[in-house]
Amino acid sequence: SNKTFTMVKPHAVADNNIGGIIQMIETAGFRIVAMKKVLLTSENAGKFYEVHKERPFYAELCETMSAGPIIPMILEKENAVADFRALIGSTDPADAAEGTIRKKYAKSKGENAVHGSDSDENAQIESSFFFSGIEQF
Ligand code: ATP
Repeated sequence: SNKTFTMVKPHAVADNNIGGIIQMIETAGFRIVAMKKVLLTSENAGKFYEVHKERPFYAELCETMSAGPIIPMILEKENAVADFRALIGSTDPADAAEGTIRKKYAKSKGENAVHGSDSDENAQIESSFFFSGIEQF
């Protein structure tokens, strides 16, 4: 597919890094298809991250993702999912390559600046969690 889904996480929004992150995304050749600002409840975050509910960091993840507003976006580019995963870098900023979004903006594994879908199927599911059809153009 040519689409993926991302969110700017609460700490990056709070630190005024929405613009810096979008700059890196657009410079890398992605087009913003849909975008908004949303404040999740911990319950909503739990639904979004349901696949991780057995993981030890699930409660922390739900708290971190509901700590403040986020910026969900649908992005478009050829080979979007894989290319975006490369642009964001490793989950742990200590392992993130030079030039990646997480290298520049992540603080820890939990506060790692952005989310990026890991498959075309999940990109579709995650996009539908936040956006209706009329917002995707
Ligand atoms: P994402 O799906 O957000 O792009 P990812 O695929 O790099 O992240 P996953 O292993 O799927 O990483 O974990 C989902 C999210 O859970 C991560 O982005 C991170 O914020 C959080 N997370 C992962 N591992 C830990 C951990 N050990 N401690 C705290 N939070 C974690």
